[in-house]
Amino acid sequence: GYQRVLEENRKLYNQVQDLKGSIRVYCRVRPFLPGQPNSVSTVGHLDEGSISIITPLKYVKDGRKSFTFNKVFGPSATQEEVFSDTQPLIRSVLDGYNVCIFAYGQTGSGKTHTMIGPKELTQESVGVNYRALSDLFLISEQRKDTISYEVSVQMIEIYNEQVRDLLATDVLNKRLEIRNSGQKGVNVPDANLVPVYSTSDVIYLMNLGQKNRAVSATAMNDRSSRSHSCLMVHVQGRELTSGTTVRGCMHLIDLAGSERVDKSEVIGDRLKEAQHINKSLSALGDVISSLAQKNSHVPYRNSKLTQLLQDSLGGQAKTLMFIHISPEPDAVGETISTLKFAERVSAVELGAARVNKDVADVKELKEQIANLKAALARKE
Ligand code: ADP
Ligand code: MG
Repeated sequence: GYQRVLEENRKLYNQVQDLKGSIRVYCRVRPFLPGQPNSVSTVGHLDEGSISIITPLKYVKDGRKSFTFNKVFGPSATQEEVFSDTQPLIRSVLDGYNVCIFAYGQTGSGKTHTMIGPKELTQESVGVNYRALSDLFLISEQRKDTISYEVSVQMIEIYNEQVRDLLATDVLNKRLEIRNSGQKGVNVPDANLVPVYSTSDVIYLMNLGQKNRAVSATAMNDRSSRSHSCLMVHVQGRELTSGTTVRGCMHLIDLAGSERVDKSEVIGDRLKEAQHINKSLSALGDVISSLAQKNSHVPYRNSKLTQLLQDSLGGQAKTLMFIHISPEPDAVGETISTLKFAERVSAVELGAARVNKDVADVKELKEQIANLKAALARKE
């Protein structure tokens, strides 16, 4: 009766609240690597949600050395632990939300380790990309009696403000456009879109993409640290009885190294590269600042990266950023600037995430609301 109506209303309200929030920021500290000379970590104190850095004051002019985030993972955290809190996001993609997961940090801090894993991949060492896709298949399998899902992927690289298809045979030649078409939202129509049916399909494609990335990396001085790579996962589900369709998209992004490049030391192509990386990462910073300040104009169009991420940063998506810290004393300047950047990211409040469902479903919800109202009216 009445109690139940109240209960349902509260549930709806809680669901809506649940979808609002900030960009979640998780901080991960890399361990010292085997073969590195012994030194003392710059990470002083670390617990579940905060981290403090030991550093000379010249790197922290405001004197602040402690930072808090949604989650902090120490050097001994496993890939499984790092991924465990990400699972609800994967469910959201299948429910029709857009989800974006980034890896940010200076070169060598562990971005690729988090997203893909170490060179030799094992079941324990695989990273977020593999785990996300395998969860996606697992959950869609569990729902197969009520919803049928189709999953397809694209893989692109942004390098020197050019977008390349990592799943194309002519990766170095073809340049792609990013489009923003009303219904589909931001998309890269000319990048190969490959349907996948199992995690082994995905592993095959990711290897191909990594190989393509490596081809261009040797062609141009370790390009992989200076390009952004993005795995885009498109999910379409159809409810078997109602025919309602839901669309979700997940961006999994391994960003270029965030280190500031000293322009006096680089010339020619390297200088052009450095300027481009700075351009897109500083454009990302500008977008984030402007979202944090709730400005009415957000400068998404200033770089390819921010254009691509417009739907993921604007407030209708669920966004998670993994930031990475190297423990070495000579990295401390970058460590501090990474932590400060991440703090700005945490300050961005997103609006309610929006589900991509077709009209049939809105009608159904409206009917539900009308029924609830009628039930309430009868009781009063
Ligand atoms: P990035 O992509 O940020 O440049 P990588 O992911 O390539 O950095 O990491 C640099 C090196 O450190 C690699 O050899 C990687 O395997 C290792 N590494 C990074 N993070 C970890 C970690 N959490 N545990 C063990 N090794 C790590
Ligand atoms: Mg990398």
